[in-house]
Amino acid sequence: MNLLTLLLALLPVLNGPDARLQVRFTEDGGALRYSVVYDGRTLVEPSLLGLQTNEVDYSALTVVSSDSETLRDTYTLNRTKVFRIDHEAVRAVLHCQNPQGRPLDIEWHLTGHDAAFRYCIPKDTETGSVRVLRELSAFRFPEGTSGFLTPQSDAMIGWKRSKPSYEEFYKLDVPLGERSQYGHGFTFPCLFRVGEEGWVLVSETGVDSRYCASHLSDYDPREGYTVAFPMPEENNGNGTVEPAFALPGRTPWRTLTVGTDLAPIVETTIPFDVVEPRYTTTRGYRYGKSSWSWIVWQDASMNREDQIAFIDLSAAMDWPYILIDAGWDQEFGHAGMEELVRYARAKGVDVFLWYSSSGWWNDIVQSPTDIMCDPIARKAEMRWMESIGIKGIKVDFFGGDKQETIRLYEHILSDADDHGLMCIFHGATLPRGWERMYPNYVGSEAVLASENLVFGQVHCDLESQNAALHPFLRNSVGSMEFGGVFLNKRLDRRNGEPGRGGRISGTIRRTTDAAELAIAVLYQNPIQNFAITPNNLTDAPAEAIDFLREVPTTWDETRLVDGYPGRYIILARRAGTAWYVAAINAGEQPVSLDVRALEARFGGTARVLSTGKEGLQSGTAAKKPLSLPKDDGAVLIIR
Ligand code: CA
Repeated sequence: MNLLTLLLALLPVLNGPDARLQVRFTEDGGALRYSVVYDGRTLVEPSLLGLQTNEVDYSALTVVSSDSETLRDTYTLNRTKVFRIDHEAVRAVLHCQNPQGRPLDIEWHLTGHDAAFRYCIPKDTETGSVRVLRELSAFRFPEGTSGFLTPQSDAMIGWKRSKPSYEEFYKLDVPLGERSQYGHGFTFPCLFRVGEEGWVLVSETGVDSRYCASHLSDYDPREGYTVAFPMPEENNGNGTVEPAFALPGRTPWRTLTVGTDLAPIVETTIPFDVVEPRYTTTRGYRYGKSSWSWIVWQDASMNREDQIAFIDLSAAMDWPYILIDAGWDQEFGHAGMEELVRYARAKGVDVFLWYSSSGWWNDIVQSPTDIMCDPIARKAEMRWMESIGIKGIKVDFFGGDKQETIRLYEHILSDADDHGLMCIFHGATLPRGWERMYPNYVGSEAVLASENLVFGQVHCDLESQNAALHPFLRNSVGSMEFGGVFLNKRLDRRNGEPGRGGRISGTIRRTTDAAELAIAVLYQNPIQNFAITPNNLTDAPAEAIDFLREVPTTWDETRLVDGYPGRYIILARRAGTAWYVAAINAGEQPVSLDVRALEARFGGTARVLSTGKEGLQSGTAAKKPLSLPKDDGAVLIIR
């Protein structure tokens, strides 16, 4: 046995709790690499580990020793796709050192289907803080792997120079090496199909004020995809791209979720498993449904009559909330808002208010501006909100992924909790474990959301494709504030009524009503701002309105039944004793939905919302399986 084989033999192999998942290590020429094997199949090929700080270069590493323990972890989350998480995990630490003998720990967390790792930098000298210049962490995939990816945009482009905001198109099943649209790589999460061998979802979690948010670089033929930091231009050039923290300190977790099929990808809880609450709350937060005028009636609806109409809509729907969007301050002022909140609360409806995050990092004129970025103004405003009974805020138009911006999210959340305010973020980065880290966090946009269906026909044409995609990707790792479910046929205020000169306006919805109801289940966010309008109370099918009254927004369990990203999905979510099975088809091939088999699997009798000859119909299971054409969907409520 030569020295090299001896060293290789000494490198640890980490096994997940059931030993189907394995992480192996190799050292060659000073480079430490990991690979991920599932059921004997290599899903991630040897990929670099390491990082460089302004103090120490950890890009060459040797494993000195390792230890591991199996732990049983149980916790609850009251606002996401699963309520009670109870699983076994292997926690392991690789004690490494660089050629100068400077120590670095790499901590691993392995569940049945997830492998997560982070770097822990000790305080081994007098130095008390570091800047991280670069992370080497890489993700290399076998030949034949394809990606489901969305690009990181240029900074300071788009609406009022407010990007990057994770509002880009996805490319599906593209070969490794295809360059990203802007040349800045891809935002998390990134899904990879390793030929016929399996699937890998790559993301990160545990990002708070002590680091920046990262993304994946473009593909490098040698090292694969690597962890990339924000661009200097983000946030109008303000703030560093080199995250800094005090020693001892840690990076966020890099997460890999793997499976031979897609169920582990959809059902993973790894974004929450490895993080901890940043603070506890003394407040009780209630989740549920909300209306908002802005999505279909747009800016012109920022007036008393229209806001009253939507408060009345929420009341008629038995929904607890209304979201009053941009421009309310100019229309009502604080005094007018107090009067409007009184009206809403008398109807049993509580209010969310919109704010711009900026500031000085874009050209946003939608108001209020200059409050959420300023701790003095923010705290005073939040005191006022609490005093009149506001329950939450929607903060929009953040400035990218720098540590400076992540700090702003955390400061807003922390101040808001002091005043019993929940937080929704739009024009925003992906949440990374925030549902567990921040008790008053609700959800983030970080997706081409419902507003785009109103703005452009192409988004309507892609609506079912996205509904069949996001549960595997964006919405798998975090709550998604999409703001959808339209029952208008035309997505504007007139809904098909001819306007001036007989012109019919508004983008054309392609989906069936049943497909829209499926989206209410497929998209998960603990507060759902649904896009129905007052006219839908009388012009939409009564079964649809009844369903939107009762559909839950938080779930005890989530199970993927079948699907392929962007083509179709059949997804089951449980609330209490009822299973809601939602299906949508985005492909030309009809999708078959065997109601009897689903009743047997989930144990009960189904009420079926599907498309009949006359449109939406509600009934019990037919003998034959349902066949869903393109842009159609269905919901089964099995109890
Ligand atoms: Ca947006």
